[in-house]
Amino acid sequence: MDTVGILGGGQLARMLALAAAPLGLRVLVMDTVADACAGQCAPLLVGDYRDEAALAEFAAKAGVATFDFENVPAASAQWLARRIPVYPGPGALAVAQDRLAEKTLFRELGIPVPDFVDVPTREALEAAVARIGTPCILKTRRLGYDGKGQFRIRSTADVGAAWAALGAQAAEVGLILEAFVPFERELSVVAVRGRDGDFRTWPLTENWHVDGVLSASLAPARCEPAIEAQAHAHARALAERLDYTGVFALELFCRDGVLLANELAPRVHNSGHWTIEGAETSQFENHLRAVLGLPLGATRMIGHACMLNWIGAMPDPAPVLREPGGHWHDYGKQARDGRKVGHATLRADTPQALQAALERVGTALERQAQVAPVIERLAG
Ligand code: ATP
Ligand code: MG
Ligand code: MG
Repeated sequence: MDTVGILGGGQLARMLALAAAPLGLRVLVMDTVADACAGQCAPLLVGDYRDEAALAEFAAKAGVATFDFENVPAASAQWLARRIPVYPGPGALAVAQDRLAEKTLFRELGIPVPDFVDVPTREALEAAVARIGTPCILKTRRLGYDGKGQFRIRSTADVGAAWAALGAQAAEVGLILEAFVPFERELSVVAVRGRDGDFRTWPLTENWHVDGVLSASLAPARCEPAIEAQAHAHARALAERLDYTGVFALELFCRDGVLLANELAPRVHNSGHWTIEGAETSQFENHLRAVLGLPLGATRMIGHACMLNWIGAMPDPAPVLREPGGHWHDYGKQARDGRKVGHATLRADTPQALQAALERVGTALERQAQVAPVIERLAG
């Protein structure tokens, strides 16, 4: 029986472990903390990703390695790749870890991006704000997630505050300034590429964020076929250039009918959680199939799906469980402000039925604000 080693033991590793069981696979998770939530569903090796002894133990037990987060040190991924197959490869991981490298690649491939400038120093920030204009966003090049490591610059008066907030990180993780995009919608394309180059995408997903954290996803996104085709073409170009193996997500802003690439997540993605119940093959199963060199499963949708993230604490499950297409995912984490602790997926055969289910659940859980933009989209 093959053992898939996963670096990182959060909810993504947990859902990969759950998808691995029917395929007859064993999973070994490595994380730096003993209470990593994937450890409830798979054996957990606790160790530092930079510790060669821990990596050696991991490599001795795993036949193939993958990731549940993109910030595994590049040197550790390379160390592992010299011993066991690692998917996606360290090269693809290195690009996706660095906002400057990934945006440069988007541009090279002809994928439109918001204007951006590397910001090594305070003087460079002043010049970058002058060039890009306001509003704009200062972001750490590396290690950011869930909107952390970002500062919105509304006018030039904010430059000092932005540097005070992030300047100390310029030397270690780098900074990048991006134009703020007043987008009409945020979309993502979740895609998978097999070891043999077989490439598939799930239907385009529309996403809503609150304070930089994903709040809700709707699939299929309500948008023109040309937009969807463009998103899929961008994803394919990236996958082929990076010789990518596994699942990834490309986050996009849509403005005036044009797609601008935001970032590439080199892993299964929160905006693809709906695929567990809403697609023929989930992103988790297809990621495992890809890294093992197995044939990929069909990515077609089954009806219409909306995923709602639970941030901070889990709500009462009953209103979702009462829905005929309601599905509950509790990650088994301690409640904590801003933390993703679970999600629900509502699936229905028609947009009208999905809208009605969202109205019932939103009211019962007093989450009207969370479901409102999705309902508005479905109604429009
Ligand atoms: P993730 O958890 O998706 O990895 P992250 O911390 O890497 O998040 P981003 O995806 O860069 O951060 O930004 C989080 C959210 O902030 C975006 O989904 C979008 O809603 C908003 N945002 C980021 N950059 C821009 C931009 N240039 N213009 C407008 N909104 C933006
Ligand atoms: Mg990110
Ligand atoms: Mg993002």
